[in-house]
Amino acid sequence: MTSSAALARDTPTAFAYDEAALALVVSWADGQEHRIPFAVLRRACPCAVCHGEMGRPGRFDREPELRPGEDQLVTIELVGQYAIGAVWRDGHRTGIYSFERLRALGDRVGAGS
Ligand SMILES: [Zn+2]
Repeated sequence: MTSSAALARDTPTAFAYDEAALALVVSWADGQEHRIPFAVLRRACPCAVCHGEMGRPGRFDREPELRPGEDQLVTIELVGQYAIGAVWRDGHRTGIYSFERLRALGDRVGAGS
């Protein structure tokens, strides 16, 4: 894969919410479109609280079940040129998802819609 193809893979062109399916729809520069369920997105939250740090278990290691509001996405905001931040109904907003991570997540769960 050339570097420009790799760049297109990890470059989102549009974000949308599919409220009926409770999923984030991500369109990519290479033409792919992914539907990533909010619950999957929340569980993949890369922040230290959710995923632990320095050997300490994260929130989802201790308690895998989602609580009310935790899988309700309020909004997303762009973080620089490389990531989005997710704001959740329960007030959680420290998760920064790099486009690369988002793409990997979409390839795993959101393709073929
Ligand atoms: Zn988190």
